Amino acid sequence: MQHELRVLKPEEHFIEDEPYYEPVADEIAVFEAAYGNALPILLKGPTGCGKTRFMEHMAWRLKRPLITVSCHDDLTSSDLVGRFLVKGGETIWVDGPLARAVRAGGICYLDEIVEARKDTTVVIHPLADDRRVLPMEKLGELLEAPDAFCLAISYNPGYQSVLKDLKQSTRQRFVALEFDYPNAALEQTIVQRESGIDEQQARQLVKFAHMTRNLKGQGLDEGASTRLLVHAGKLIASGVAPVVACRSAIAQALTDDADMLSAVNELSASLF
Ligand code: ADP
Repeated sequence: MQHELRVLKPEEHFIEDEPYYEPVADEIAVFEAAYGNALPILLKGPTGCGKTRFMEHMAWRLKRPLITVSCHDDLTSSDLVGRFLVKGGETIWVDGPLARAVRAGGICYLDEIVEARKDTTVVIHPLADDRRVLPMEKLGELLEAPDAFCLAISYNPGYQSVLKDLKQSTRQRFVALEFDYPNAALEQTIVQRESGIDEQQARQLVKFAHMTRNLKGQGLDEGASTRLLVHAGKLIASGVAPVVACRSAIAQALTDDADMLSAVNELSASLF
């Protein structure tokens, strides 16, 4: 299969079709109010519980381009802001994703912000208070954010450690929205809709997820997320036996520990 590679520019990150999103509480209204007041937003919650989907949905609702950056421990402030590059003997400035989002009046979503180096996190501070500017030191410019620009970050308090905690000076700039796995009925609806399996199968998958979530802290770092249930559902919808789907899409994603794996596999075998 031949795939044409496309490099997207921020103005092309507009989401045309409504991303399917089931609201869990009043997160849409709070986000809209924060956005209307030019306040930055912090999404808290475990991996795979709908934060990225929510951001896509909000970008579609607000009709703003969405620029997402997955943070990691090598991420420098130049990766976000931009750098000089030599191209064909010429030195040119290339904006990083954060600068592009500011210029385009878009939504910049920094996923898993605590993974980024501390000196990188500091670069967002002047953008995240009422100055709303991005200092581009290497360029000698101060980029002023238009009203349409929105800064959002995510953070998983479950992975909290002394080394990877969000500093008060960072977190106290943001309006925080707390995310968690949806309640059983809603999660079942989501899994059904996202994967195409029937009601009964979705109900069993959610039951299985709850069993694994009860093992959190007792051998598992995290229970099965909604994302993993959707993955297993998709395999089942493609004809994979449910026990095998749970093993491949859920159990193996949760742990490498042989004893824990067989315990988790036994749980799914008891349901399917
Ligand atoms: P996170 O960003 O929190 O790690 P995602 O947004 O990628 O998680 O969610 C994983 C998957 O779970 C999504 O792709 C979607 O299929 C499903 N999902 C979770 N919550 C919702 C929700 N409230 N509405 C619709 N889909 C959801």
